[in-house]
Amino acid sequence: MTVLERFLKYIKIDTASSSLSEETPSTPNQSLLANQLKEELTSLGAEVKYDEEHCYLYAILKGDEFLPKIGFIAHLDTSEDAKGENITPNIINNYNGQQIALNTSNVLSPDEYPDLNNHVGKTLITTDGTTLLGADDKAGIAEIMTMLEYYSSTGEKHGDICVAFTPDEEIGRGMDYFDYKTFGSPIAYTVDGSTLGEVSYENFNAASAKIEIEGKSCHCGSAKGIMVNAILIANAIMSSLPNETPATTEGYEGFFHIERVIATVSSATLEYLIRDFDKANFERRKKLLTEIVDKLNEKYNKRIKLTIKDSYYNMRNIIEQDMSVVEIATEAMERVGVSPKITPIRGGTDGADATYNGLPCPNIGTGGHNFHGTHEYIALEDMEKTTEILIEMVRENTNRKVLTKGE
Ligand SMILES: [Zn+2]
Repeated sequence: MTVLERFLKYIKIDTASSSLSEETPSTPNQSLLANQLKEELTSLGAEVKYDEEHCYLYAILKGDEFLPKIGFIAHLDTSEDAKGENITPNIINNYNGQQIALNTSNVLSPDEYPDLNNHVGKTLITTDGTTLLGADDKAGIAEIMTMLEYYSSTGEKHGDICVAFTPDEEIGRGMDYFDYKTFGSPIAYTVDGSTLGEVSYENFNAASAKIEIEGKSCHCGSAKGIMVNAILIANAIMSSLPNETPATTEGYEGFFHIERVIATVSSATLEYLIRDFDKANFERRKKLLTEIVDKLNEKYNKRIKLTIKDSYYNMRNIIEQDMSVVEIATEAMERVGVSPKITPIRGGTDGADATYNGLPCPNIGTGGHNFHGTHEYIALEDMEKTTEILIEMVRENTNRKVLTKGE
């Protein structure tokens, strides 16, 4: 099966996860896809282990036991932000660089998405304008499967190739039941990024902050010296923070993101996300918020309660202790003629979780664009190239350790 045939087959199953569910998997259709992949992996000769209860599918294509192992991870679910049912892809051969009418009311335009200009002449796969496409992350799954088929059918030498397909990544629960021992590889890559050639081993340090303010309400006519308006205290906190928000920052810049405000005179709650790539700056941001609250607590007689909880950390802090896991990817890319694009992730990944659990796990681009919406698209050529990259990464990993052994 080609990477395209696989991709078109996988996107037929609506695997949208649901943040409303407490279960893992959050939706039953993710198991449908896992079962289909289980059959396919078995027919490729891989050793399959399926945690049916939580929908984690593991497979190992056994190789030479003296050669080093390598692992790849992709997620089964798609985002709940756009419809994922009845996906009807449009395949556009030899893209001419013009805007694409997905349907009568929805247009995909290079004016809005200049990255389309890099795909002139390629075969584009778009949506029909009513659903997402599901390249996030079914392109990753299709590329991993096609790489496995290469090693299964050619008999080229390799160490164990370990694969995992996980549920509920889009709702932040992708690694909740991940079994590192069953997975079996000491290094791995999530194949879940965007642009072809993207390599990411840096993500935000992340925390959430909840601020609860207790006001005091009374009749406005006789409020002097008595009323404490929680809304005004909330406003004082918000205006004391620097104008570093998601809408005013990019690249390596961090931010405070006010996510929710619930406020009346008698009580207010503020919910913030705190993000920074740099660990020291991250700590500084948390300290700043603490100082602002402390100061207001002095003024308002301890009416404010601040709770800060760390969510995840930048995997770079660990990855840079041994950059070979990144070099395997970048060298493989160069060898197949793709210049690696080292891109920081302005968010978190399952790989960050994995890295802090002892499995170094950068992220690799799949070739897809505009995830989580009806403008999602991917070029066939980029899927094919990414498959080549994965094949070359296995080769690169194998050769590196053979050289070390010979020394
Ligand atoms: Zn994804």
